[in-house]
Amino acid sequence: MATETIFSQIIRKELPSDMLYQDELVTAFRDISPARPTHILIVPNEHIPSSNDVEAHHEATMGRMHTVARKLAVETGIDKNGYRLIINCGEHGRQEVLHLHMHLLGGADVGPMLVRAQSE
Ligand code: 5GP
Repeated sequence: MATETIFSQIIRKELPSDMLYQDELVTAFRDISPARPTHILIVPNEHIPSSNDVEAHHEATMGRMHTVARKLAVETGIDKNGYRLIINCGEHGRQEVLHLHMHLLGGADVGPMLVRAQSE
C-alpha cells in the first residue's frame, strides 16, 4: 500500500484544517496556502495517490468530487463569475501531495490556462 500523506490525517481529523465538507466518499478543506481568494481541496477519503491510480471502482468517488466542487462553488459564491478545477498528476503535473486532490480556485481571475512552453 502506498504511504499515506498528511491529507489522510486531515480526513481523520487527527490534524486541524478548515474543513468545509465531509461525507462517506470525500472531504473538502481550504488550502493552507491559497493561490486565489477561494482555494479549496476536494479529496477522496480513500488514499488514491494520483490520477494514475484511479480505477473503475473509484468512479463514484470521482463523480462525488465534482458534485461537491459545484456545491462548494455555490456556497462560497464563486459560481457566478466562474472558477477552475485542477487535478495535478506526477512530476510533469507538479503534484506535490501524493493523495489525489481537486483544487477549486476562484474569487478572482485565475489567469490563462497554461503558460506555453518556450519551445512551442
Ligand atoms: P499539488 O501541488 O499536490 O496539486 O497541491 C498540493 C496542495 O496542498 C498545495 O496547494 C498546498 O498548499 C496544499 N497543502 C499542503 N499541505 C497542506 C496542509 O497541511 N493543509 C492544507 N490545508 N493544505 C496543504
